Amino acid sequence: MQNIEFLGNDIFRIVSQVAKESGVRAYVIGGYVRDCFLGRHCKDIDIVVEGSGIEIAAKAAAKVGSKLSVFKRFGTAMFKYKGMEIEFVGARKESYRSDSRNPIVENGTLEDDQKRRDFTINALAFSLQEEDFGNLVDPFNGVKDLQAGLIRTPLDPDTTYSDDPLRMIRAIRFASQLSFTIVPESLASIARNKERLGILSRERISDELHKILLSPKPSVGFKLLEQTGLLPKILPQISNLKGVEMVDGKGHKDNFAHTLQVVDNVAEKSDNLWLRWAALLHDIGKPQTKRFEPSVGWTFHSHDYIGAKMVPGIFKQLKMPLNEKMKYVQKLVQLHLRPIALVQDEVTDSAIRRLLFDAGDDIDDLMTLCEADITSKNDKVVIKHKNNFALVKQKLVEVEEKDAIRNFKNPITGEMIMARYNIPPCREIGEIKEYIKNAILDGKIENDVNQAYALMEQKAAEIGLGDASL
Ligand code: ATP
Ligand code: MG
Repeated sequence: MQNIEFLGNDIFRIVSQVAKESGVRAYVIGGYVRDCFLGRHCKDIDIVVEGSGIEIAAKAAAKVGSKLSVFKRFGTAMFKYKGMEIEFVGARKESYRSDSRNPIVENGTLEDDQKRRDFTINALAFSLQEEDFGNLVDPFNGVKDLQAGLIRTPLDPDTTYSDDPLRMIRAIRFASQLSFTIVPESLASIARNKERLGILSRERISDELHKILLSPKPSVGFKLLEQTGLLPKILPQISNLKGVEMVDGKGHKDNFAHTLQVVDNVAEKSDNLWLRWAALLHDIGKPQTKRFEPSVGWTFHSHDYIGAKMVPGIFKQLKMPLNEKMKYVQKLVQLHLRPIALVQDEVTDSAIRRLLFDAGDDIDDLMTLCEADITSKNDKVVIKHKNNFALVKQKLVEVEEKDAIRNFKNPITGEMIMARYNIPPCREIGEIKEYIKNAILDGKIENDVNQAYALMEQKAAEIGLGDASL
């Protein structure tokens, strides 16, 4: 028996038994089989049944005592067992209309079902029949493509991609995740079918973008998106970064190439998806702010500020949540120049305190982004910047130890001011608190309640509050 080592979980024997009793054939299919051959861990198992997937799922779930979830509309059902999610579907034969990705579905054989899979490497199946348990069913030579590292559609790529255009982005996602190559005829077909992206929901697109960003070297995916012409349809703000303009023989760096380098640099240091998004978006303000100033050359003044303002629009356009993740990305885009600006100026404690205050708990991520942003063709420049950068890092640690600014809480609260001067909530309270905060950040007083209280008295007297309690 072949591939038996991949089918060690007893669920496979149980499904095999249930299918036999019901007189239908069942197979493990898709991602699970692919990942077995790649040696990747996979906790989703997809089972395809030549018959009713829901019925076999119900019987298997009953046998192992798991709770079944049925999705009638999709003809699927799933349950959890020993940490795995097992999903069942009836084998399908599909045809698509050109104006929608909702297929007309009929029951079919295993091979019909394999034909409507996206790639040969995702169309592999293991038999669960007792007589040939574990037998590989591979009508499109998927294992050969797996070994050669190729992404290829089982049918003519124009058919596969046009039927469900998401597959074009999935092809690029798998190329990026697995370092595989999309075969030339498939790549050409993606470029030809790019208009079909219009029928996709934006959530499905952003799910794939997340996976590209989470891959080991995200630039692989973004270069392919650009090369095939998909990127201007999905994220025009990123493809707008492309190109080098020349004036008086002076060019600026290609901000698309630079951005991808920064994303790859961040990916080496962190698997935080939203930090990777921040890296992707950190320079999106550049095209709008680009100027040529004869005395200094190319400048991008305020691109940090403009870029941060563009972030919510991009999240909305991709139907990504406008929650604290968006705010985090926005904040990092806004602050991405600050640590490097410190490197160039004299590094004062108060500048460090300001940075700690503005970044708060995201300071480490900001430093990761900022360090990743140091790219230059000139190695000497990179080394010099990185050394200065290390100094700023060191200072951050020292100042934070001394002054605890990172989670800054004003030692003087509104309640304290109201009680001391016997006043209701009013503008002056904010004024005093702001004054104390700035005094601490500027190093005029320490982050200490007694010193802050004395300063409060002083400021209150100055604005005519001190007498109120007398
Ligand atoms: P991952 O779980 O890493 O996202 P996967 O290949 O397992 O990758 P799933 O979305 O879990 O992707 O889908 C499981 C299987 O379903 C795939 O291996 C493939 O056979 C099939 N599949 C998924 N999406 C599509 C699609 N858009 N078109 C055709 N087949 C698809
Ligand atoms: Mg999967």
